[in-house]
Amino acid sequence: MKIKNLIKPNVRSLHAYSAKEIPCKIKLDANESPIGFQLKREGVMDIETNRYPDPDALKLRRLLSKRWKVSTDKILHGNGSDELIYYLIATFGGPVLCPVPTFSMYNIISAALGEKTISIPLDENFDLDMDRMLDSVKADMPKIIFISSPNNPTGNSFSDDKIVRLIESFSGIIVVDEAYQPFSDSNGLIGLISNYRNLVILRTLSKIGLASLRLGFIIADPEIVGEVNKVRLPFNVNTFSQYIAIESLRESGELRAIIKEVRKERRRLFKELSKLNDVTTFPSDANFILFKVQQPEVVYRKLLKKGVLIRNVNNSVPGCLRVTIGRKDENRFFLNSLKDVLKNEKGGASQKDK
Ligand SMILES: *Cc1c(COP(=O)(O)O)cnc(C)c1O
Repeated sequence: MKIKNLIKPNVRSLHAYSAKEIPCKIKLDANESPIGFQLKREGVMDIETNRYPDPDALKLRRLLSKRWKVSTDKILHGNGSDELIYYLIATFGGPVLCPVPTFSMYNIISAALGEKTISIPLDENFDLDMDRMLDSVKADMPKIIFISSPNNPTGNSFSDDKIVRLIESFSGIIVVDEAYQPFSDSNGLIGLISNYRNLVILRTLSKIGLASLRLGFIIADPEIVGEVNKVRLPFNVNTFSQYIAIESLRESGELRAIIKEVRKERRRLFKELSKLNDVTTFPSDANFILFKVQQPEVVYRKLLKKGVLIRNVNNSVPGCLRVTIGRKDENRFFLNSLKDVLKNEKGGASQKDK
């Protein structure tokens, strides 16, 4: 008996997602917050470890309902937004349409579920190519469109107007993944949920200092929430994560301070990166910056040798690397290392003339 022959063909051709730990001094590869949430309360958490978690995460959803000004029945909780992407595709099926380059999980999960993915390239400004998107909506009849805004890995947001035009000309589901909304100047599109029944918003706590909890949320029409809830595993979010999420959302000042600090560091890092010769820097509404260099593979490897781990996105955005905003000292170390690497590449100065 060959196990291989028992595997579904779409799974056989997959590769496991590699999130292997690469040893480094400074970790700026995964868009995590450089600052974590400090649990204030002393002593043991008030948790009954023998009981299953609240399957409906009601306390947490009520808290978020106030924060986002939507009713609790429009919110569904997931073990990270990854899990909710899985549930959405499991609920609606494919084809799944994504503008690319974007977050790889849409494609990976779609393939794991045996659904077809249609990739429509962004235009030369990393903006939505509306003509091609609308053509594909007609020709390929996608069931779901995933749009990450701000987009990972390019960092830019798409205009509300374009997204609304898509929503209005598409009778399938549009998922706007707002993982990076807290770092942008926009409030996001939660306010449009009651206008458009096919709009689904994704939010996550992963980028604002709570990646360890694995908590993401869908905000959508109660009918959609109800359908997706049918495929959700009953105890998908554990008690500890629910508990700490509630604690940290009650201390929302601390979360706001984390976001403010990251935005401040982003401005600084962007300015410094822009001064470098042979580096093209792309504006970012997120907690990372995309930049272009002449030899991305070499620069990536040499940075790693100096202990600085960033993300090599050369495969999806030719010539580009993505660096997560770290703490001030981490960003400085990254910048100095990058300057060194570039100087040795060129054997010359790497500072742009003002
Ligand atoms: C990081 C990221 C997420 C977060 O996923 P979680 O499973 O919630 O950690 C979601 N969408 C995009 C576009 C991301 O970059």
